[in-house]
Amino acid sequence: MKRYISLAIAALTLMPVMAQMKQAIKIEHVEPMNWWAGMKNENLQLMVEAKGIGETTPRIAYNGVEVASVTQTDNGNYLFLNLKIGASARPGTFNIEFVDGRGKVKATCKYELKQRETGSAERGGFTSEDAIYLLMPDRFANGDKSNDDMPGMVEKADRNADYGRHGGDLKGVKEHLDYIADLGMTALWMTPVMENNMASSSYHGYAITDYYNVDARLGSLDDYKEMCKAAHEKGLKVIMDMVFNHCGTNHWWMKDLPCQDWIYQWNGKIVKSSYRLSTVADMHVSEYDLKMATEGWFDDTMADMNLKNELVKNYFIQNSIWWIETVGLDGIRQDTYPYSDKEAMREWNLRVREEYPNFNVVGEAWISQTEKLAYWQKDANNRDGYNSELPTIMDFPLMSAIHAAFNENPGWDEGIIRLYNSLANDYLIADPMKMMVFGENHDAGRLYTYLNRDVRRLKMATAFLATVRGIAQWYVGTEVLMEGDGSRHCEIRRDFAGGWEGDADDNFKARKGEAAEMHDYVAKMFNYRKTSDALRHGKLLHFLPVDEVYVYFRYTDNDCVMVVINNSDKEQTLDSERYAEMLKKYSVGKDIETGKAVDLASVKVDGRRAMVVELK
Ligand code: CA
Repeated sequence: MKRYISLAIAALTLMPVMAQMKQAIKIEHVEPMNWWAGMKNENLQLMVEAKGIGETTPRIAYNGVEVASVTQTDNGNYLFLNLKIGASARPGTFNIEFVDGRGKVKATCKYELKQRETGSAERGGFTSEDAIYLLMPDRFANGDKSNDDMPGMVEKADRNADYGRHGGDLKGVKEHLDYIADLGMTALWMTPVMENNMASSSYHGYAITDYYNVDARLGSLDDYKEMCKAAHEKGLKVIMDMVFNHCGTNHWWMKDLPCQDWIYQWNGKIVKSSYRLSTVADMHVSEYDLKMATEGWFDDTMADMNLKNELVKNYFIQNSIWWIETVGLDGIRQDTYPYSDKEAMREWNLRVREEYPNFNVVGEAWISQTEKLAYWQKDANNRDGYNSELPTIMDFPLMSAIHAAFNENPGWDEGIIRLYNSLANDYLIADPMKMMVFGENHDAGRLYTYLNRDVRRLKMATAFLATVRGIAQWYVGTEVLMEGDGSRHCEIRRDFAGGWEGDADDNFKARKGEAAEMHDYVAKMFNYRKTSDALRHGKLLHFLPVDEVYVYFRYTDNDCVMVVINNSDKEQTLDSERYAEMLKKYSVGKDIETGKAVDLASVKVDGRRAMVVELK
């Protein structure tokens, strides 16, 4: 009898526990956190993380949605659900139940199919019409001091720390969108805004620790959405920086990988990439060298993602679509492009365009030889038959040419001829108009510093960037003569003066001296570009430089711009006979910088000056 009582008591005390046991599994992560009804591709791979979830079977009762298959990995704490979301599925929320072998529900999660924005699939991308402003949000403007030190985030703002967080954020960017738009820019590329909760040097954003979260020190997801909306209202497209090649080693999944081959592992050691990107296109490459380049880690704190694994590939493809749809992106910049598996990246491009046919993506293939770089652009004539499907690549060879052209003493192959020679290589490029052109970025030394702090040279480079073929990209602060040697990254990623309360200078509102002059020049050139069909769409015709004077034309059937770059110290007069094949079609020229008429029979240009001339 006694025994029965104690059992009864035991049963009573166990009751609350039993209730919990019904749903004994706590779900830690479901990614993507939501999806949309009406996507073109009806497949959706859901990654679910929960202790022991691998032993359960998922079920869904929702019209149009079915669990087509389930993938278990070597880790029982994960389950991958392959859903089919048919055309009949309406926006709404449903339960996903995870049941055990006896039919008991061990866990339930709610899942939402959202309504897509009208016209979402038809969104445009960025094109040669655009000029892109690149900035690093931690270093631009601190619009919200309350997020400088956030609970759970390891690093807090410290402006004295060269490689620390400085407190800039999305609100700060939003508050200064007018500044960017007034410069004549039409698109914004920020270095990654996803969570980077690393122990140190997390400010740059390239060691992502949560692919579905905005870094709390930059703001919330809603802040990002609001910033994107505000940018669109001001005529600025938004390009999001993404990193598929590696994650930060503090990513939550590093404690318990979804499967052993989720990342490239090297027997517990860290083996860094050889960084030799020529291997990836090399027809004679050894397996060893290819592996070292693409499976070695980019850094000790950046685990290399195995995109050959279908689960990983789908995870990232869906992640990019989730961001496009969630915040309304106009483009993506993909970091360290050739380091990732090239077949996976090809599929990524195709699947993004399956949903958004007009979208654009730029890949960072940091390769300085045109013939090697050309391999990476969509429709390149590659001997191995590889087509990356990547529309835009960064013109690193042209960047190097700009640095040298305006700096060095003239010679047969030195000086301004470098620009001509670089563009003469366009026969190797599948689509020159889709090349991104720039004089610098957040990884290279600052242009003003390269050009020996000579505003005249910087203006020539600016005129060139605003008028050359392709999609223009400008790096924050060069318009106000920010300096920095690229050998230390912190030097080229300094805070924008005026972005922090109490800053001694304010380059947003109170520019002085040469900085003010340079700013106005940049604004003039890029605002003119916005109005010129020739610069945005026109063909390029150029002439071999003579005496360091480089002349080229951008033209359409109705519109023509002549650019004369005099890279010598002396004033020069053009031999109009030499340029007659273009000049004879026009009678009137206007100097865009000064607004003055240009005598086309005798075009004079001051030393170290670029003249941009609208022809009629
Ligand atoms: Ca802040």
